[in-house]
Amino acid sequence: MPDLSALLERGPVVCAEGYLFECERRGYLQAGAFVPDVVLDHPEVVEELHREFVHAGSDVVEAFTYYGHRQKLRVVGKEDILEPLNRQALSVAAGVARQTGTLLAGNVCNTNVYEPGSPAVPEVRAAFEEQVRWAAEAGADMIIAETFSWLGEALLALEVIRGAGLPAVVTFAVHRDGTMRDGGSPEDACRRAEQAGASVVGLNCIRGPRTMLPLLERVRGAVSCEVAALPVPYRTTEAEPTMQALRDPARGGAQAFPTSLDPFTCTRQELGEFAAAALALGVRYLGVCCGAAPHHIRAVAETAGKVPPASRYSPDMSKHSFLGTAPGIALSYQDYAARL
Ligand SMILES: [Zn+2]
Repeated sequence: MPDLSALLERGPVVCAEGYLFECERRGYLQAGAFVPDVVLDHPEVVEELHREFVHAGSDVVEAFTYYGHRQKLRVVGKEDILEPLNRQALSVAAGVARQTGTLLAGNVCNTNVYEPGSPAVPEVRAAFEEQVRWAAEAGADMIIAETFSWLGEALLALEVIRGAGLPAVVTFAVHRDGTMRDGGSPEDACRRAEQAGASVVGLNCIRGPRTMLPLLERVRGAVSCEVAALPVPYRTTEAEPTMQALRDPARGGAQAFPTSLDPFTCTRQELGEFAAAALALGVRYLGVCCGAAPHHIRAVAETAGKVPPASRYSPDMSKHSFLGTAPGIALSYQDYAARL
């Protein structure tokens, strides 16, 4: 199995994310707390989702340890399952990665206790250290450090990952005001992460395709390493640039995040168009974050020139009973379809 940099030399790499939202939608994970205890309660659900994402074109199996760190589990009263949860998540992901010839990624993320200079910083470092150690012991090929809105926190994670000798993908979460919480720009954050030894830097989560693209162009211009882009599949706009900012007019202007985002969901075509635009900018590590479903991943993978197993079932409307034109489709039905 080639490593991440060898894979990127061959062409674009696809990485499916979004396990938290998808397991919640399937009824195996609680919104609000948003911790991945599904890996212990129903590992078969997580394993199946890993398989579906690989089937749809993901080159990376990311262990589902998002929000499975000590600080988050402590807040929801589940610190006792920390180590079993992490080891199980890694073992489930490793099984799928080894069977499918894909890369196994460990994962660390925003702790929601970090602040520059705060007494919590050593705890945050310790949390990254234990998670990275478990990932290394499970044979991870790389670590994804994701959804950081503090550059300082991301650099802390990166230092720990580099200390373990593993390749790091570092992606930043850019909220409504378009800056990092430390005050700098996303492109500066990416430049700093590249200088600190990240193999791939970029953006994930929070923003949909339309409001992530302009930032990606700036990131691509600021770094020389490979760039990652994993938007949420939601129709964010200039006025409402993040999934948290979306307000649903059909519900009296209520906030859609996090459990009522359905009416804003992007089509697979929109994700394909996003991937094409990102590739044109020179972005070669592509994926989809919270809200992603396999049809989105397939659209990104196919746009990147891949033919995943799921492509066998990609749409062929020529065979449709009304909309199709294949021999045997009754002309009268085709005429009728024009009036539907
Ligand atoms: Zn996300």
